[in-house]
Amino acid sequence: MPRLILWILIFAFNLQFIDSFASGDPVKRQVITHNNKRFGIEQILSKYLQIPSESGHELEAGEFLKQLCEENGLHITQMGSSDGNYNFSASLRPLEAGLPNIIFLNHIDVVPPGNENHWEVPPYSGKIVDSEIWGRGAFDNKGTAVMHLFSLIEMAQRYEGKILDYNVTMLSVSCEETQCDGGISYVIDNYFDLLNPEVVIGEGPPGIKGLIDNHPDQALFGISVTQKRSLWLQLSLDIKTSGHSSVTPKSYANKEMITALNELLNEKNEIIYNDVNVGILKQLGILSGGVNGFVLKHPRLFKSVISKKLREDELLLALFSNTITLTSIKDDNDELNAIPTKITATLDCRLLPETSTDEFIADLKETLDNDAISIEVLKQMNTKVVTSSNTNFYKNMAAAIQQHYPESKSGAVMLPNSNDVAAFREKDVLAYSVVPVKIDRKYLETIHTFNERVPVAILEQGKNTYVSFLERCITIQTPRESVELVSRLRANATTLFSIKI
Ligand SMILES: [Zn+2]
Repeated sequence: MPRLILWILIFAFNLQFIDSFASGDPVKRQVITHNNKRFGIEQILSKYLQIPSESGHELEAGEFLKQLCEENGLHITQMGSSDGNYNFSASLRPLEAGLPNIIFLNHIDVVPPGNENHWEVPPYSGKIVDSEIWGRGAFDNKGTAVMHLFSLIEMAQRYEGKILDYNVTMLSVSCEETQCDGGISYVIDNYFDLLNPEVVIGEGPPGIKGLIDNHPDQALFGISVTQKRSLWLQLSLDIKTSGHSSVTPKSYANKEMITALNELLNEKNEIIYNDVNVGILKQLGILSGGVNGFVLKHPRLFKSVISKKLREDELLLALFSNTITLTSIKDDNDELNAIPTKITATLDCRLLPETSTDEFIADLKETLDNDAISIEVLKQMNTKVVTSSNTNFYKNMAAAIQQHYPESKSGAVMLPNSNDVAAFREKDVLAYSVVPVKIDRKYLETIHTFNERVPVAILEQGKNTYVSFLERCITIQTPRESVELVSRLRANATTLFSIKI
């Protein structure tokens, strides 16, 4: 059970498995135009990887990507054109046509490569070695961006001159990794209406094999429908005392703050079961079978066993509880023998979607047990929205995955971290996070660290899956249905999450 749960619950929530119904398409080779020459997808990714674009320095890489879009007939809207504020959309039809829009969202920025000596192949080389393509951003998020790009160009060619009910857009933005003001928030503040989003598909989990012990070759794809939300707090305490530390006062700022934080950080997290995470345990039970399966299928009956397992793993605990991490402590003192009067601490709290900020802070105050400590909300993500998995867009993505990976299963999941997709959820737009490629977990472990790379073969497969998704949306979807599903979901949002143990 531990290995099974560990890997699935990295992304897990409410798996709803769908049946396989089609066999995979043969992989088609696609080339696009750049500087009057023709290039395949891995060659384009290689070039993109060679342009460093750490957050706040996206201009050059963004210009490259935009040029590719222009050269291949997509319609561009620039939404900020400087480092830290370089964003653009590339669409099948001009945004001004006002069509409801299917948006593929990616980010141009990457995290720094760290010590380059730890890389076996240099991080900005874009080298292809033994059918793997290397470089910072190979998965996160440049690899995904080129799959988006190639799928749009293929759709543009297929639907040239035809009337469409939908536009399809690739939206590439700055500083997702650092959440600066010039990235997704700038785009939403200034271009939301022009984008007219109907659904947004952003970065998210891929399909991973080896998650289920008795079906090691079966890949599981998580399609993320929600994420934990961040709440950043600052605690402050101000106590005037005698300034010299040769005589220790009974009470002083540093002592009181540390005592209160000690209580807070050592408190056991409350395990919160809700309909969605109970749903996934049950589905895992069905897949797993045997004694473990029976336990998982009856999570409330075996809640003490399961809760114990969840507490043993910090990643699992993060998905079943609200977490608090102390990220800094500062006082106003540099002297060895002086008592500072003021101390502040910052907390990075990650809340399950159903937890309200007010309730959470009230609990936190009670645990701190010190009324003199003031709490300020520095920043928070407001969304509590869970995008419904009962939409044609969701079903089309699940079906496209099934078409290209017939042996796989897919399900709705939650991400323990947030990404730019959440900004669209906050605006009541249907939004899903998924990268429809099948990949070994060893590659995922290189994201945000050394030796990031992906197998070249996944690029065409991912692109083809995106194309199948778009084909299904354009030919099957009716726009009105999805709008109703969002409002219905919001009305039910509080009752969705009411079960606690
Ligand atoms: Zn990313």
